[in-house]
Amino acid sequence: MTYYPDLSPYAYDQSPRDMLNVGWLSAEHRYSKGLVDERVVNALKVLCVTYENQMRGIHHCEFCDAGRPFVFGGPVGDTKVLLGSAEIRITGADGICYAAPNLVLHYILEHQYCPPEEFCQAAVRAVGLEATDELTLVE
Ligand SMILES: [Zn+2]
Repeated sequence: MTYYPDLSPYAYDQSPRDMLNVGWLSAEHRYSKGLVDERVVNALKVLCVTYENQMRGIHHCEFCDAGRPFVFGGPVGDTKVLLGSAEIRITGADGICYAAPNLVLHYILEHQYCPPEEFCQAAVRAVGLEATDELTLVE
């Protein structure tokens, strides 16, 4: 999968909006690890199911070496979402838009990835919650 540093300008495809990258991890680059609040995980689960920005092909997790996409059973019925097949785009309170592969959920759950605090705040806000406390604890 293409690697982009967190909060670098998004350039995966042509988009009229200015967006920042989050969660485009690669096995060849270090990434920030830590604890992520359950509210963020739950918000991303919802966003994974409701957002459909299909990417070209399926990206596999480089840390698992699984050679197959991970399937996430959504919160609604038996909705199955292929992690690595789509992007999540979230706009934060300050109007900044973040673009993340939906694999970000897998990275958080399985690889202790800790996304930028502002992205986590935006995710929680996108599902209608308002967090007044910190949602991440970087190791
Ligand atoms: Zn993995």
